[in-house]
Amino acid sequence: MMILTSGNTYWNSISKGYKRYPTLNCNQECDVVVIGGGITGCLTAYYLSQYNINTILLEKNLIANGSTAASPCLLEYAINTELHNLINLLGKETAIRVYKLCQKSIDDIENILYNIRLHCDFQRKDSIYLCSDSNNENIMKTEFELRKEFNFNVEYMVKKEIENKFSFSFPCGIYSKNCGILDPFKFCHALLKGSSKKNTKIYENTSVVNFDYYSNNIRINTNNDCHIYCKKIVFANNFTAHNLLKDTSVVKLKTIYSMATEPLTTYNGWYEKCLIRESYDPNFYIRPTGDNRILACGFADDFKSSNYCAINIERKAFNILEKLKNLFPYIDNLKPDYCWCGTFGETKDSLPFIGKHPKFPHCYFNLGFNENGICYSVIGAQIIKDLILYNNNPDANIFSLDRKSLK
Ligand SMILES: Cc1cc2nc3c(=O)[nH]c(=O)nc-3n(C[C@H](O)[C@H](O)[C@H](O)COP(=O)(O)OP(=O)(O)OC[C@H]3O[C@@H](n4cnc5c(N)ncnc54)[C@H](O)[C@@H]3O)c2cc1C
Repeated sequence: MMILTSGNTYWNSISKGYKRYPTLNCNQECDVVVIGGGITGCLTAYYLSQYNINTILLEKNLIANGSTAASPCLLEYAINTELHNLINLLGKETAIRVYKLCQKSIDDIENILYNIRLHCDFQRKDSIYLCSDSNNENIMKTEFELRKEFNFNVEYMVKKEIENKFSFSFPCGIYSKNCGILDPFKFCHALLKGSSKKNTKIYENTSVVNFDYYSNNIRINTNNDCHIYCKKIVFANNFTAHNLLKDTSVVKLKTIYSMATEPLTTYNGWYEKCLIRESYDPNFYIRPTGDNRILACGFADDFKSSNYCAINIERKAFNILEKLKNLFPYIDNLKPDYCWCGTFGETKDSLPFIGKHPKFPHCYFNLGFNENGICYSVIGAQIIKDLILYNNNPDANIFSLDRKSLK
C-alpha cells in the first residue's frame, strides 16, 4: 500500500475531543455513497445533505487523516499556473472562469461556516506573490494587469515597497486581497456534524473494496463483508480512485514537505501576516496559524516512494527552517515543532477531475488534485451535487474527465 502522508501532521495533532464515527457492521441502502472522508468527501456529503439526499459517507481510516491532514490549507484563487499561462492552456474565457470559481470557493467556505455557526480558525488573509528574478518583472507586470483587468482585487508592489513592509527584498510582487486560511481538520468534522443533522450517515474504518451493478442498484462491497445498495457513487478518495481513471488521465505525484514552528511572540518583518508565495518555487509557501506559529511548506520532489518521503522529513524541515530564517531575520526563536510530508497529484492542465466517469454509469468523481485542491474540492462538491440533482451544471465541462485540455 502506498502511504502518502508521513510524519507528525499538525492539524490532527492539535485537535482534541473530536467525534469518532462507527464502523459499518450491517447492510444498508441509500441514494448516494460518498467514498472518502477527507475534505472533498466531507464537502460533497455536506452539499448533498443540504438537499436532503439520503447519503452514506465511508472512510477507510479516520476522518481527515489523509492529504487533508497534511495540507497547510492556504485558500488562494490564484493557482500555481499563472493566469496568463492558464489562458494559453485553456483559452481566456475558461481560464478566467477557473480563477473566478476558485475565488468564489473561498466565499463559499465562509458561508458554510456562517450557516453551521462554527469557526474552524477560518480567517480572511491577503497574499503576496513574489517575483524571484528581476528578469521576470515584465511577466509579473503582465500577470498583474490581467488580474486587474478581470477585477481581481490586486496591487502591484515594487521592490522599495516590499522592502518597507517586509524584512526581505524581492524585485516586485502581486499583493492580493480576499484569500484565506482554515483548519482543514476542524472543518471536515464541522461539515460532517452539519451533514449528520440532515440524516447523512458516516462510517469510519470502513473501506470500499469494490462495487458491482446489481439489479437497478449499485452494490458496494466493504472490507467487513457488508453491502450498501445505492443509486450513485461519488469517489472522493483521492489517489485510490485514480485506478479507475487509468485510461483517461495522467497524474504526476509530487511530495511536499511542511513544518510548523513553535508558537511565536513577534512577527517582525511579516506585513499583515499575509500568505507568501514565490514565483521561482510556487510550491514554497507560508501562512500563520491560529496559535501563532508559522506554517511553511516546500522543497517538493517528484514522488519516489513512501519510505523516501519519510526519511527526508528531517532534512527538508531543516531546509525550510533555514529559508524562514533568511526571510525573517528579526523573528527570534524560530524552531520546528511539527514536521511532515504529504503527496499531491498534478494534472497536465492544472485542473482537477470532476464529473461522471465515461465508462461507469452512475459513478461521479470529485478528485481535487493540484496544490489548490481545497478550492477545487468546493467547486467539485457543487458540480456533483448539481449533476446528481439536475444532470447539469454550467461549469461541468471545464473539469470533466474527457475534456479537451487533457488530450
Ligand atoms: C502537502 C500538501 C500541501 C497542500 N497545500 C494546499 C494548500 O495550501 N491549499 C490547498 O487548497 N490545497 C493544498 N493541498 C491539496 C489539498 O490538501 C488536497 O487537494 C485535499 O486535501 C485533498 O482532499 P481529499 O479529501 O480529496 O483527499 P484525502 O484527504 O486524501 O482524503 C481521501 C480519503 O479517502 C479515503 N479512502 C481512500 N480509499 C478509500 C476506500 N477504498 N474506501 C473508503 N475510504 C477511502 C482515505 O483514507 C482518505 O481519508 C495540499 C496537499 C498536500 C499533500
